[in-house]
Amino acid sequence: PDAIPEAVIDLCERLARSGYRAWVVGGCIRDLLMGERVSDWDLATDATPEDVMRVFRRTVPTGIAHGTVTVLHRGGHYEVTTLRGEGAYTDGRRPDSVHFVSDIEEDLARRDFTVNAIAFDPRHGEIVDPWCGVHDLQHRVVRAVRDPRERFGEDGLRVLRAARFVATLEFTLDPATEAAIPPTLETFRKVSPERVHDEWVKALTKARAPSRAFDVMRRTGMLAISGPAIAALDDEAFARTLRRVDATPRAVALRVAALLWDAPGDHDAWMRAFRFSNEVRELAAHLLRARGVEGAEAWSDADVRRFVQRATKAHVDALLEIERADRIARGAPTALVDALWARARAQLEANVPLVAGDLAIGGKDVMSALGSGPGRHVGRILAALLARVVEDPSFNTRERLLALVPEVAKELA
Ligand code: ATP
Ligand code: MG
Repeated sequence: PDAIPEAVIDLCERLARSGYRAWVVGGCIRDLLMGERVSDWDLATDATPEDVMRVFRRTVPTGIAHGTVTVLHRGGHYEVTTLRGEGAYTDGRRPDSVHFVSDIEEDLARRDFTVNAIAFDPRHGEIVDPWCGVHDLQHRVVRAVRDPRERFGEDGLRVLRAARFVATLEFTLDPATEAAIPPTLETFRKVSPERVHDEWVKALTKARAPSRAFDVMRRTGMLAISGPAIAALDDEAFARTLRRVDATPRAVALRVAALLWDAPGDHDAWMRAFRFSNEVRELAAHLLRARGVEGAEAWSDADVRRFVQRATKAHVDALLEIERADRIARGAPTALVDALWARARAQLEANVPLVAGDLAIGGKDVMSALGSGPGRHVGRILAALLARVVEDPSFNTRERLLALVPEVAKELA
């Protein structure tokens, strides 16, 4: 580990000068040893949070109750957490109490997986690895620290983290660790939807192939609890769904839509229950509503414009990405989607009118043409005119639209 940033080593030095020990620990050591880019550096120390706030000038007590202080240093921010032992769990959600310890090994023993339980002391160049995390890293295995059944019974989120790491790290799950999942699902059931959401998002966006996580989730029974509509798909539809998700670009809303593509049920209620943001929910629901490219090889240009209108200009690429992934998942040629995509792009480049605001006339023009006041009829007439213009964009001139108004009004009356 010679790639640890100067600023991190400097933090350890400063703690040492005040008589404390410090280790770089957890996911960052794992990622570093794997040669991955590390974004967050976490430190463990035998200094108490109060000590840490005394040693450093700029600190934020971000998680003081569980011993975490964020230190701002040389333009970066670092989570410095006091060594902790395992607290007692009675609800399977969070420890009832946190107690600080002075031994790094005790702190590592309360961590979830061996590859996450490696510490490194940069001042002495010393790796602390009592659970053989380096060995598991080399063999690419996710294995619980100590007895998996006990650990999963303490904190129900860990089973989902196991599935998530199988996908993001592209590791396999140790069989004894996997075997401990079904008997501890009652604890998993109690985990807050917010925590479940965060793991789902990581599995969907940080993994090249989220299918690895969903495979584990389905065969262990986790998916029946947190994604019943997907769990209920038959084997073939489930396998197709996983292939579709993997072939979809790594954006939450796109991959959520790809996941729900063939699943029955109230998707919006499910996305709400698992706390997906409004932005994600609305985009995923929109993509699910707008899908459908069957028969596109025979579409007229007007059909292509109606498709772009339905997808909306902003989301036509996202929709076609998933449609393309769906073809891949089905083993169908992607040429149909690629050809449609080129045609859609040509329409967009030609700047064809697609929304009421693109029309050459507005509501006021409709009212004066009819000699009427405002009312619901105005919007309905504009919508009908837009449909004509999408059918044939050459209608989008002031004269031609004004000439159409009385006729359209009569049809709607
Ligand atoms: P990521 O790359 O997603 O950040 P990470 O391993 O850093 O992965 P975090 O959630 O940031 O995951 O947690 C940091 C460390 O804290 C983990 O590496 C692990 O040692 C420990 N940890 C986190 N959550 C748990 C948990 N539920 N039970 C036990 N230890 C945990
Ligand atoms: Mg982390």
